[in-house]
Amino acid sequence: MSLTTTRLLDNYIAGQWVPAREPTAVLDVVNPASGEILARVPLSGAADLDDAVRAARNALPEWRAVPAIARARRLFELRERLGARAEELARSVTTEMGKTLGDAHAEVARMIEMVECACATPTTMQGRVLEDVALNVDAETVRQPVGVCAAVVPFNFPAMVPFWFLPFAIACGNTFVLKPSEQVPLTQQIAFGELDALGLPAGVVNLVNGGREVVEGILDHPGIDAVSFVGSAPVARIIYERSAKAGKRVQALGGAKNHMVVMPDADIDQAVDALIGAAYGSAGERCMAISVAVLVGDVADKVVPKLAERARALKIKNGMELDAEMGPIVTREARDRIENYIGIGVEEGAKLVVDGRGHKVAGFEQGFFTGGTLFDHVTPGMRIYKEEIFGPVLACVRVPDFAQAVELINAHEFGNGVACFTSDGNVAREFARRIQVGMVGINVPIPVPMAWHGFGGWKKSLFGDMHAYGEEGVRFYTKQKSVMQRWPASIAKGAEFVMPTSK
Ligand code: NAD
Repeated sequence: MSLTTTRLLDNYIAGQWVPAREPTAVLDVVNPASGEILARVPLSGAADLDDAVRAARNALPEWRAVPAIARARRLFELRERLGARAEELARSVTTEMGKTLGDAHAEVARMIEMVECACATPTTMQGRVLEDVALNVDAETVRQPVGVCAAVVPFNFPAMVPFWFLPFAIACGNTFVLKPSEQVPLTQQIAFGELDALGLPAGVVNLVNGGREVVEGILDHPGIDAVSFVGSAPVARIIYERSAKAGKRVQALGGAKNHMVVMPDADIDQAVDALIGAAYGSAGERCMAISVAVLVGDVADKVVPKLAERARALKIKNGMELDAEMGPIVTREARDRIENYIGIGVEEGAKLVVDGRGHKVAGFEQGFFTGGTLFDHVTPGMRIYKEEIFGPVLACVRVPDFAQAVELINAHEFGNGVACFTSDGNVAREFARRIQVGMVGINVPIPVPMAWHGFGGWKKSLFGDMHAYGEEGVRFYTKQKSVMQRWPASIAKGAEFVMPTSK
């Protein structure tokens, strides 16, 4: 397709699809399996963001006044609309991001579950009341919307991650500005098509395509009250610090290096299955992917040969092919970064058991593929152990016992997800109690919480106090207000100079 006919994406501002007024650049959106240009995305400028924020501020009084159940009804309708386009959404995810179609369907299902869960806000947003906290005085706490909320999201879940935020924000009576990843902006065009069809008041939801400049504008803009971010740890820290400095509420979910412990009493075949799926599924481009296998005692000599055999046999194809187990890497640059890390691991002295570099897929020579890679004898001082590679590279670390497995994991700077495979209930319980990680799986390799539980890591995997979605999402998107009241007939005469107490 020539550049002149390639679709240039619009922003969605104040209930209208509009071209970016002041793009600082225009980028190609590329299918990572084929290298084909799918569309062009503008990097919007300050004026575009300002339009969106103004629209969101203007919409706030009207939207906030809509009864909570009526707001929830709009989300019921959105759920139906997204469900009707689930196939199209999944195909869009695979086409622009590369994950397999089956995995994209699962992502869209999780996206829709977020909407379902947000329908419960008439219940989950409730405050508390206690009458007679003092003589004839009643006290209540209510939760009110924060205001204009913005979200900045990564490339690896083009459908789901924006919906960790949008449905909860608007269900709570806020208005919303989304900045999708400039690498995968197409899927949210479909979602916003359905939001547009809901006929919400203009400005309740807005979409501004862009990159770093829009993000920095969001952090500094006085019209934005809260910022949610998901992406890499260095950017998450910037988002957290700069938003907080500007007085905004902020949650910034960062990177990860997730470990899976295999105990000697684990079912070895189940553990191998789990490691293969969790390390190489979505080409390792999941913030909950397992990138380190912690092999306890004599487990390594049983597990590593099986992992090697399975890694070599992975079906790596265009994600649209139904038997594909792993698709391409999102961009050429990301593929090169991953393959560079494999070289670093070799230089550091780790044993490269399976080398995925230079993988070619017949018929997709322009795609950004790399093969499943396996290292053994990785040690904690190595960069391939410490740093997030975010690709299909599994590092095996050998430890003598359970205590050292826990110590190793707790010393890592990331704490997003973790798993322990064991058949011993006491080991499982101790692991869950002692591990310094936000999301724990016991014989579950990727313990991503469902929509009503809330998602968040510890340490450098989350800057901020509140996790995403579920009950925590409702807290993030509401402010607590305390109201204390009494009525003239019950007020004693005379000025009070002593602070009232309940006595
Ligand atoms: P990224 O940090 O490069 O980009 C995320 C977003 O930030 C994008 O919208 C991008 O436009 C913007 N951005 C990038 N650089 C910026 C800068 N210097 N200043 C301001 N904004 C900037 O992340 P990515 O490559 O899109 O996604 C992969 C990363 O996201 C991985 O580190 C992964 O672990 C992480 N991730 C974390 C979670 C989680 O829940 N903790 C979930 C998914 C992905």
